[in-house]
Amino acid sequence: MSDVFQFMNITRNPGDKKAAEARKIEFREIYKPFDASQASEQAGRCLGCGNPYCEWECPVHNYIPDWLKLVDEGKLFEAAELSHKTNSLPEICGRVCPQDRLCEGACTLNQVTAGAVSIGSVEKYITDEAFKQGWRPDMSGVVKTDKKVAVIGAGPAGLGCADILVRNGVKPVVFDRYEEIGGLLTFGIPEFKLEKEVIAQRRQIMEGMGVEFRLNTEIGKDITIEQLLADYDAVFMGMGAYKYMKGGFPGEDLPGVLEALPFLVNNVRNSMGTLPAGESFLSMAGKRVVVLGGGDTAMDCNRTSIRQDAKSVICAYRRDEANMPGSKREVENAKEEGVQFLWNRQPLAIVQQNGALGVKLITTELGAPDAKGRRSPVEVPGSEEIIECDHVVVAFGFQVQAESWFDAQGIKTDDRGRTLAAERQTFKYQTSNPKVFAGGDQVRGADLVVRAVFEGRQAAEGILEYLQVW
Ligand code: FAD
Ligand code: SF4
Repeated sequence: MSDVFQFMNITRNPGDKKAAEARKIEFREIYKPFDASQASEQAGRCLGCGNPYCEWECPVHNYIPDWLKLVDEGKLFEAAELSHKTNSLPEICGRVCPQDRLCEGACTLNQVTAGAVSIGSVEKYITDEAFKQGWRPDMSGVVKTDKKVAVIGAGPAGLGCADILVRNGVKPVVFDRYEEIGGLLTFGIPEFKLEKEVIAQRRQIMEGMGVEFRLNTEIGKDITIEQLLADYDAVFMGMGAYKYMKGGFPGEDLPGVLEALPFLVNNVRNSMGTLPAGESFLSMAGKRVVVLGGGDTAMDCNRTSIRQDAKSVICAYRRDEANMPGSKREVENAKEEGVQFLWNRQPLAIVQQNGALGVKLITTELGAPDAKGRRSPVEVPGSEEIIECDHVVVAFGFQVQAESWFDAQGIKTDDRGRTLAAERQTFKYQTSNPKVFAGGDQVRGADLVVRAVFEGRQAAEGILEYLQVW
């Protein structure tokens, strides 16, 4: 291969440092929370549409115009109470939802010159500020039952489920194999998009409500599912989607080639000071990094590498910019921070030569649309090139993997490993084992935080009906 493809050692612009610095400053501005007058100004822009499209596009169907009105009237605690009626993690969704595709994308004001109300920022403001001022979820009217439910997974789905259960007098005990709650909120989404203190605060609030967390506990290893089924009245599974999708080309196992999630988790654990014994921090400082993929996980890897002071970060994606699966906002952020994009490049192999890695790419053109209407990349013969680098991060997404104990418990999955647990049935999100419910990425495949919260909450309603608490 080496005599056909010379290492091109492309020294692409390693990123405009000034732009990157400016962007970091802008981040600090974004994180600077709205003050009361900014929140009220945004809230006051709401037209109070009779049939609010924003509510329909919001996956948890937040009462958006109603809480905007309360904020405009200065009724913060009432707004917090109302916001929590539909969303278990409003301060988190306010930060990480792709609002341009959801609530804000549907705002009527988009059709007028001024643009959408900053719904996500106001949602974040309501809970952040209410917590700061001492508001806590009102549990005074809760009548306790003798029921208890095991929740596997402390990600958004598990937390959404636990929230509804505890508010209805059922004791949730949440098990997670990680050392902290949050699932991908803590160990996937980087700090610059979601501050980890926000999740720590939510943990305190939930513990105060009566939710019990048992961390560093993996079901199937530390405790058996049989034990949970014997000890609890029902089980909810919100175990996410963690099967790494490989590219299927040569060289993926070479030293220096990293999977996206372990790279991000290593970065988070280094910041939290919880790196396991024997694992060291893998810094990209001074390194030339190539990220393969075009989704939000790829953008997180790009932007994490930039923040670790990589010498250069190149992101290669097999379609064009308009057809990238990731959020447009994230791509723009990555560009402004100095990430170089190579559109229409399909990876063919990762090679090793002269002590460095090289990513062999071929240029593509977009061909005819496939069954889903997406145009497939077609390779352009003779357009191969090799980009020399120190690390390659492969970010092609995640799939769900059925657990080894599913069969023995009669829990069925589809051909993509997703747990079968339909919304529309007698008990919402019940699996083929009547005592076991499921929701979030494990059921729908890798998706969004807000949809996992919704399904966790809906599954809790299914459990409450199954246990005849409702
Ligand atoms: P998870 O968050 O994956 O939580 C599952 C939990 O189950 C984990 O804590 C895991 O440790 C635990 N678990 C699994 N198996 C076991 C077991 N056997 N025993 C005990 N515990 C177990 N979505 C957005 O809306 N906005 C974003 O900006 C965004 N950015 C993302 C960035 C990255 C890098 C990634 C990977 C995803 C991102 N997502 C984003 C998607 C979002 O994080 C997920 O859709 C969401 O977290 C799914 O929630 P979940 O509760 O279903 O699963
Ligand atoms: Fe918008 Fe997400 Fe909040 Fe719904 S939960 S209002 S989609 S930011």
